[in-house]
Amino acid sequence: MGTDRVEVREVRGKGKGLFSGVPFKSGDFVAEYSGMKIPTTEANTSSSRYLFEIDDTWTIDGSDESNLGRWVNHSCDPNCEASIEQGRIIIRAARSIKRGVELTIDYDQEYFNEFLKEVCACSTVRCRSRAAN
Ligand SMILES: [Zn+2]
Repeated sequence: MGTDRVEVREVRGKGKGLFSGVPFKSGDFVAEYSGMKIPTTEANTSSSRYLFEIDDTWTIDGSDESNLGRWVNHSCDPNCEASIEQGRIIIRAARSIKRGVELTIDYDQEYFNEFLKEVCACSTVRCRSRAAN
């Protein structure tokens, strides 16, 4: 047991996920989506599934396991949101989150189409794959 802000844990049926190690208030810093900065043009042909676009020029390839942001799973009704702040990708709480809760963000439609398709496992009422059925 530590007092880390976030913890990587196994999620049944989904591999690993990121969990809150402390309670968060809406707007609190959760983690940075960090990694190697690559040109966005190059990212368009990459097969990495951990690409996060900053802008038309730069994309972060967050494949490295030291990137805590890569463990954040998609949810169609997420409790966190990612935004670009001064060229960095920052994940913040979008609402109050208790300790020990899985942290999720809503990856964009492109990611959803490419990697989740109709098998999104977020199981929320607002799930887009559920709506498609
Ligand atoms: Zn979903």
